[in-house]
Amino acid sequence: MTMLPNSQEARDVAYQLHPYTNARTHQQNGPLVIERGEGPYVFDAAGKRYFEAMAGLWSVGLGFNEKRLVEAAYRQMQALPFYHVFSAKSHGPSIDLAEKLVALAPVPMSKVFFTNSGSEANDTVLKLIAYRSNALGQPQRKKVISRIRAYHGVTIASASLTGLPNNHRSFDLPLPNILHTGSPHFYKDGQPGESEEAFATRRAEELEALIVREGPDTIAAFFGEPVMGAGGVIVPPATYWDKIQQVLKKYDILLVADEVICGFGRTGKMFGCDTYNIKPDAIVVSKQITSSYFPFSAVLMNDRMFEPIADESNKIGVLGHGYTAGGHPVGAAVALENLKIIEERGLVAHAAETGAHMQARLRELSGHPLVGEVRGVGMIAAIELVLDKQRKTAASTPGGVGGIAARMLQERGVISRNMLDAIAICPPLIVTKGQIDELVGTIAGVLDDMKGEAA
Ligand code: PLP
Repeated sequence: MTMLPNSQEARDVAYQLHPYTNARTHQQNGPLVIERGEGPYVFDAAGKRYFEAMAGLWSVGLGFNEKRLVEAAYRQMQALPFYHVFSAKSHGPSIDLAEKLVALAPVPMSKVFFTNSGSEANDTVLKLIAYRSNALGQPQRKKVISRIRAYHGVTIASASLTGLPNNHRSFDLPLPNILHTGSPHFYKDGQPGESEEAFATRRAEELEALIVREGPDTIAAFFGEPVMGAGGVIVPPATYWDKIQQVLKKYDILLVADEVICGFGRTGKMFGCDTYNIKPDAIVVSKQITSSYFPFSAVLMNDRMFEPIADESNKIGVLGHGYTAGGHPVGAAVALENLKIIEERGLVAHAAETGAHMQARLRELSGHPLVGEVRGVGMIAAIELVLDKQRKTAASTPGGVGGIAARMLQERGVISRNMLDAIAICPPLIVTKGQIDELVGTIAGVLDDMKGEAA
């Protein structure tokens, strides 16, 4: 790309180090600079329109110009632009939102702790779990288990929970007490002739073997996304969550549901836990809680978590944890308005209906020679690209085929995400069936035109 001197692109390259970007190729290629948004679309500086098939980062549920969110933020900025919740201080928006989240929760929850990002929220859960184990007089119970392909964030501890090589490599991670068990990826990890149920049983047995090997009284918690997002949109195989939960119950291990992507309608129900009958002790929410108009996250916990934590803070004299902006009044006001709009407009039911349409339309692509699998639930999906359907393999460079697809889609006005040759589709909840049809048409065109280039 030719970058004009002093252009936005040139200044971006000169001054910004980007997350999830190859810093060297970026110097050659420059950024795509987005200027404004409208519904499910964003526009670049030249006015070119893109369908945001990833809702930003799986997060802009209400689309890119919801005025009511802007007005809610403005009203709160005028009334009280900042206050904190440290040292027994509080404010209306945080109180209203905590009450709302407990009311919405898929299983009985007791308290909400506010944080600013998914990573921070998962970090917080890890710290609270250690605090709880100490409170219970079980200082040896500090190990936690997550899964290969999981995505729980990028702080030192939450990146350790994440089960993706690029989040560990050269960062000297994962931390020692964070263990990984097999992913629920039936398409890639299922054995020939194995049913989904048998695969789920195998994964539960592997989890149990890990727990027994490590010592059940050393394991504090299991973390899981109801549907894995950044690891490739991996939908759990039939009976998976039932079997995993049986194992956790047997050994009295806490379950933490990371609803950062699934929460607030993405799977066609309010929470991924509702879709898969998951009964967690703690729930992490972020992203779609404010449609990403404001950085915000929260940890919901039940009394099994809260009571020992309260005792320990009483023993020490204070709960020594908290973030300056946690529960920010503007973020809380935006979240409350966002949740109100989701309810008023029936967007969870809309996501179920439009999501079913999207899943059906995308599955029409399954017969294409480059498509190994189309998977997903509700308004989240992935198209796994392969060059060899029998062996389920893409090119020797992982991500290469998906990279071509994502680039061609972007050229044709669709922003998607390539996750190791799986193209993720996770549009704003507000999309219409017509917009989905248009999207599927563009993807089909790219796949046809790719046949020559990818082979
Ligand atoms: N958990 C899940 C399931 C996520 O998808 C993400 C981000 O994509 C995170 C946690 C981390 O959130 P953040 O990027 O806000 O730290």
